[in-house]
Amino acid sequence: MAELAYASVSKTDFLTDMRVQLPPSAPSDNMRIGLHVSIAGHIYESLGRAKALGCNAMQIFSRNPRGWQVTALDEADVKEFRRLKEKYDINPVVIHIPYIINLATPDDNLYERSIGAYIEDLKRADTLGAEYFVTHLGSHVGSGEDNGIRRFSDALRQISKKADPKTMILLENTAGSGDGIGYRFEHLKRIIEAQPDPAKIGVCLDTAHTFEAGYDVKDKAGLEKTLKDFDKLLGLDRIKVVHFNDSLSQIDSRVDRHQHIGKGEIGGAGLKRIINHPGLKNAAFIMETPKDTDKDDKRNMAIAKKMAGIKK
Ligand SMILES: [Zn+2]
Ligand SMILES: [Zn+2]
Repeated sequence: MAELAYASVSKTDFLTDMRVQLPPSAPSDNMRIGLHVSIAGHIYESLGRAKALGCNAMQIFSRNPRGWQVTALDEADVKEFRRLKEKYDINPVVIHIPYIINLATPDDNLYERSIGAYIEDLKRADTLGAEYFVTHLGSHVGSGEDNGIRRFSDALRQISKKADPKTMILLENTAGSGDGIGYRFEHLKRIIEAQPDPAKIGVCLDTAHTFEAGYDVKDKAGLEKTLKDFDKLLGLDRIKVVHFNDSLSQIDSRVDRHQHIGKGEIGGAGLKRIINHPGLKNAAFIMETPKDTDKDDKRNMAIAKKMAGIKK
């Protein structure tokens, strides 16, 4: 096959041909990589922003993530969103849940309100044709981890039953700050196994959170052990998205602070190993790095692509 492709090389085949020559475990231009982008203006404008930054995957909030009030999606906007998603080949589109939702809370009022808002947001993701819905696990607010995990599991069961989404729900591992649950892979496993159809729930692995929660992904052997442990508990193929972030805080700090690629505690060498790890080759890599200036996204994207051996 490779020889045939090589023999028929033309100028237009050149890029395809370069790919043929890469070793099988190396990432290629088929890799899905992107950033969290703004939906300012019309929601479909996010796709143009992602495209301009060289993304073929992106993450957005589908609305203001800090308030309960939601404006219904405009039909024409949805149509344009789906058209541009196709045109620019942005896939997956990942929607991140609003910050205000807490499905692990012991407060019944907030719990019910969170479930309602979650279902509403999940339906928006479905309407937009998003592939994944990334979910933070929330805080048990002093009621204990077991209680928080049980509350979250029950909420997720209700949500799946009521919403029956096409968009896949991904549980994101956390740094474990405050009373947050989800900083151990075992927490994710307990929640997923409590679902009627565990195969329907995926995982978003955040590299900064993983490190901050105490998994030494900076180190070569530490990364191997972390992914091996994950594989044993949940299966690596469950990781659909990697939140590719460096960490401003130390290992096991349980403090969630993202940093520019290569400028944090995980560092360039550690992140390069992660983005090239064969166990993660089917996941989309999305950066949630700081945006202090307009140049930050461009620079982080260029660095990540270079790490992954992506030419353009
Ligand atoms: Zn994240
Ligand atoms: Zn974070």
